[in-house]
Amino acid sequence: MKTIVVTGGAGFLGSHLCDFLVEKGDHVICIDNLFTGNKDNIENLIGNKNFEFINHDIINPIYLDNLIIDQIYNLACPASPIHYQLNPVRTIKANTLGVINMLGIAKKHKARILQASTSEVYGDPLEHPQKETYRGNVNTIGPRACYDEGKRVAETLFFDYKRQHNLDIKIVRIFNTYGPRMYENDGRVISNFIVQALKDEPITIYGDGTQTRSFCYVSDLIKGIHKMMNTENFTGPVNLGNPGEYSILELAEKIIKMTSSKSKIEFKKLPEDDPKKRKPDISLAEEKLNWKPSFNVDKGLEITVEYFAKKLSLEGIK
Ligand code: UDP
Repeated sequence: MKTIVVTGGAGFLGSHLCDFLVEKGDHVICIDNLFTGNKDNIENLIGNKNFEFINHDIINPIYLDNLIIDQIYNLACPASPIHYQLNPVRTIKANTLGVINMLGIAKKHKARILQASTSEVYGDPLEHPQKETYRGNVNTIGPRACYDEGKRVAETLFFDYKRQHNLDIKIVRIFNTYGPRMYENDGRVISNFIVQALKDEPITIYGDGTQTRSFCYVSDLIKGIHKMMNTENFTGPVNLGNPGEYSILELAEKIIKMTSSKSKIEFKKLPEDDPKKRKPDISLAEEKLNWKPSFNVDKGLEITVEYFAKKLSLEGIK
């Protein structure tokens, strides 16, 4: 049994990761400040003797000296554009001060630490699909920079701790991921479109809908992250995502059809610096981790539609 810290463990990805690890028989310490994370996500784990929840913001130091920690997954950071832009300075702090705090714990405990990085390090990419060797095209002064540059400097910090302190590090670059436990009010395209379609409200496409994204179902992603953590002699960065690429218009049409919705499409202003295309090259993950996603978007969307339909009906909305 390993003792594993998951920061951001009450969030969308973090809570699925906690479930996965507890299920595997590990002892999980979940750290979350509940800014975008939610206790409902870990409700099923509360009371389990192999699960502990600590309400803490990683921006502030934390001492876990009474524990022997084997591994740390650092997922703590608001991840949706509306949330990470609410308090951009705090987003930068999570990715600098917060990351340094967690790297410090890893150093003290001689623990392996994995950073949840992001496809946003590629910015509005000029190379397509994106390989890990691509260095990116980020606008340093734009509204997405607090997240993009924050995640970039976090990668730098990880490598500096490896070079300077010989820390055992891992970096995964996560592409758009979806599934149950996404938030209705998160502003992400899949949750927005599904909720709008289920309520027969207008589907809000930003821009003309020709921009593309590639969507990975959550359980595939969690398996990839776990494989990376437990693979020897490979630090990454490694892309994790589903290479199936869709325009946002195609996605809207798919969701309208799938939900037999009466919703009409409404075009809205494209947010500043919104990447025009995104698709991971996952050949490195296939080679080093023997990993590739197993869910196609139709299968994953069906489960996600079912999740939101149930949630809305419980809330008496549908
Ligand atoms: N998007 C959209 N309508 C929405 C929400 C998002 O057209 O209601 C677009 C958004 O402009 C972007 C894409 O969908 O081009 C993915 O947005 P999301 O916020 O899910 O993720 P990210 O931009 O971080 O990839």
